[in-house]
Amino acid sequence: MSSTNPQNAPFGSLLAPFMVVANYRDGAWGAHEFMPVAPIPMHPAAHVLHYASECFEGFKVYKWADDSLHIFRMDRHFARMQQSARSLVLPVPDAAQLEAMVLGVIERNRASAPAAPGALYVRPMLLGTTQNIGAAATPSSEAMLIVLVSPVWDYFAGGVKPLRIYVEEQATRCASHLGVTKTGGNYAAALGPTLAARKAYQVDQVLFAPGGEVQETGAANFLLIRDGHILTRSLDASFLHGVTRDSLLTMAADRGYRIEERPFPVEEMLEWIKDGEAALSGTAAVLSGVGTLVRAGGISYSVGTGQVGPNTQRLRADLVAIQQGTTPEPYGWLRAV
Ligand SMILES: *Cc1c(COP(=O)(O)O)cnc(C)c1O
Repeated sequence: MSSTNPQNAPFGSLLAPFMVVANYRDGAWGAHEFMPVAPIPMHPAAHVLHYASECFEGFKVYKWADDSLHIFRMDRHFARMQQSARSLVLPVPDAAQLEAMVLGVIERNRASAPAAPGALYVRPMLLGTTQNIGAAATPSSEAMLIVLVSPVWDYFAGGVKPLRIYVEEQATRCASHLGVTKTGGNYAAALGPTLAARKAYQVDQVLFAPGGEVQETGAANFLLIRDGHILTRSLDASFLHGVTRDSLLTMAADRGYRIEERPFPVEEMLEWIKDGEAALSGTAAVLSGVGTLVRAGGISYSVGTGQVGPNTQRLRADLVAIQQGTTPEPYGWLRAV
């Protein structure tokens, strides 16, 4: 394969040609406009550029073997974006308008949809645009809502290679009330600890467990899995409530797994992985097996045999089969467009 093959492009580095933009001004959302992807007009005093008033979403549209396109759980992502906007005191996107924007921009970018295992990744983003550099403690009364689309292939270029994860027991991923909010500042906050751990321990990702309580990684939820049993943190404001996490737990319950949702400490995780499995879940990662955990000082722990476990592989394959339309789904998670 040549290096210009788009399938070698890192996740999110390519954009489909069209985007859609709407502005909130004088207490109302204006009409949205479809246009070729291009730089946006942005005043240097815009609220977002100073005070990080920003949130976003990410979900996928799958192209089935018959070339039809199917959006996965769009309603959940819209509800989460509205929740993120509320928590940042940003103008809340109107669900009906956001739906029209997303459907319209998918239609205009239909030709960019890759075949399985690729997908179109849809990225709505909301920016505070009030021009005022003195508004640190004042919400942005104006906003810009943009939807971008990106053709994506495999998130983890290494395929099913088991992940190596550093367990961060000191630093927090983000402010404790914002874990549930998909806002850019959280990723900026996690970057320093993540790069430091990568450098020190050659890990792929960091699992945040401030105070010894397991939360999630920088951009994916964390599940402990074994035959007939899943343990994952119960929903609270400290971490992002993943749609993939919810989907996997629903499917697993229907397959007879006992689903245990509660806080648990690092010590319990280390017991579990002696003969159990661990995995990350998210729209981009789907369900990716963890092979090794590394703790401060570089002590490493193999997760089971160090390979991606059989329950992880099966649950991942079952979710992918639903998304790709190769198995019927009873949940109403897919919407044909
Ligand atoms: C987006 C995200 C997830 C995964 O959410 P999904 O809805 O499953 O894609 C998990 N954790 C964080 C921090 C995220 O930003």
